[in-house]
Formats: sequence, C-alpha cells, structure tokens
Amino acid sequence: METCQTLPALRAATARLRAAGRRIAIVPTMGALHAGHIALVAAARQHADAVVTSIFVNPLQFNPNEDLSRYPRDEAGDLAKLREAGCDIAWLPGVEVMYPPGAGTTIEVTGPTAGWEGDARPGHFRGVATVCAKLFLQSGADVAAFGEKDWQQLQVVTRMALDLDIPTRILPVPTVREADGLAMSSRNRFLSADERARAPLLIAAMRRAAGTIAGGAPVAEALATETEALAREGFQPDYLALVDGPSLKPLAAIQPGPMRLLAAARLGSVRLLDNIPVG
Ligand code: AMP
Repeated sequence: METCQTLPALRAATARLRAAGRRIAIVPTMGALHAGHIALVAAARQHADAVVTSIFVNPLQFNPNEDLSRYPRDEAGDLAKLREAGCDIAWLPGVEVMYPPGAGTTIEVTGPTAGWEGDARPGHFRGVATVCAKLFLQSGADVAAFGEKDWQQLQVVTRMALDLDIPTRILPVPTVREADGLAMSSRNRFLSADERARAPLLIAAMRRAAGTIAGGAPVAEALATETEALAREGFQPDYLALVDGPSLKPLAAIQPGPMRLLAAARLGSVRLLDNIPVG
C-alpha cells in the first residue's frame, strides 16, 4: 500500500494506475476505522481494480459547537487495517493540503440537505459536499463507496455528483452492525459501559416502529410510541421519522416507493445515528 500526503504524490500514483488501465475507487473516511469502513473498502474493490482510502478529519463539516479536537484519531492502527484490507493507496492530506490559505469555494447542496442532520448540524453538509467533491476530483475515482449508515449524507453526495457532472459513481454499502444490532461508529467508543449496554435499544425501537408501520399502523402513532420508549430508557431522541428514501421528505403515511426510517438520539455524550429500510 502506498501512502500519499501531497496532491502531486496522489496524482502520480493514480496516473500510474490509470496508465495501466485500472479503474479506481475511493473510500472517503475520517479515520478511526472499524469493520464498517473495511466493508466499504471490500465493496469498492469489487467495483474497481484499485482502491484509494482517504483519511481526513474535515474541519469544514464540524460546526463550532462540535468538538473537532475530540474526534478519535489512530493513524497507525488505520494504516494497518487498510493494508490488511488490500487498500492500494492511503490518501492522508493535511488540512493545509485540502484547504490551502485563501481557499474560498464551498458547495451548497439543496434538496436532500433539508431537515434531520441538516437542521441538527448547520453547515455540516456544506463541508461534506465540498470535501467529497475535492476527493473525487483529486483521485479521479470512477466509483466512490459510502455507507448507508449515513443515509442523508449518501443522498447529498449522490445529488452533488449528479448536479456537478462529476463522473464518479456513488456506491451505497449496507450498514455494518455489532452482534447486538448497534450500528458501528467511530463515536461508539465514547459510550460508557452502561450506555453501551443500552445503545442497541435504539435499533430495537426502530425495528419495532418499521414493523408496525409496514403492517399498516398509523405512522405518527408508531413513531410517538417508540420515541417515548427511547426517552424512558434514558435516550434524548432528536428525531425518529419515516421519510422518502432519496429525497428525505417526511412521510405521514406509507408509500409504494422506497422508504427509510431515520433516527438520531443522544445517549450520554454520544449522538447515535441510524436508519433502516421500511417495507
Ligand atoms: P466516517 O469515517 O464516520 O466519516 O465514515 C466514513 C464512511 O464510512 C461513510 O461513508 C460512512 O457512512 C461509512 N460508515 C460509517 N459507519 C459505517 C457502518 N457501520 N457501516 C457501513 N458504513 C459505515
């Protein structure tokens, strides 16, 4: 595995791959890698001949209330995991490489950015869209793998690539979960032992809501019942919502098209985020 820290180094490495006729996939990450990230590398490998994984804790997607300095970092551990996963290039740009002094362009996506994480984290998707566009253009990737775990992000990035005519195909990868159902996340390490034991109650409540909604129960009632159940278990639910899959528009009743149940809830100091298909 080659490690690149400057844009000329990355461009030289990807140019060599391209000259050899190899299709390139990129897996954007913020590091602190777990099995969910490794599933993205494996999926990317199935759709391309060479995989670039970026590790960049993007300051632009953190808002001032969020602690960027608290975000977990483990570069040595990450590189070992990527090597073992068969990643070809680790792309590790510093902040000054990604955003050189004077950088003044950001990307504002409308549509799927409305509501949910867009409301909870003002400016977050501007940061995500901007860094992802840069990563696609830096790598010239044919394919980019994103986790369904961050459903709204997946839709925002898909919209952005389409709108900007960036020829990188977005590959969605199903959420990887712990044995008890908790969606893997770099932030789970901040759960106390007691919180970690209670955390799977979130996906349990979501599965109950999805089941009763798919079975024809009134949507608002099913969502309210499970939101209350989560609050009783010590969660601070932010939202539990039924939405149209691609647009993220809330649904008051089931529809024939793709539906997703979205949830965000705080447990202690950790904001848990999850989603599942409905029907
Ligand atoms: P992050 O490093 O948290 O920014 O995530 C990088 C990529 O990994 C994003 O596309 C996420 O959606 C994806 N990802 C994070 N957790 C999981 C998971 N449990 N299963 C699948 N993909 C994930």
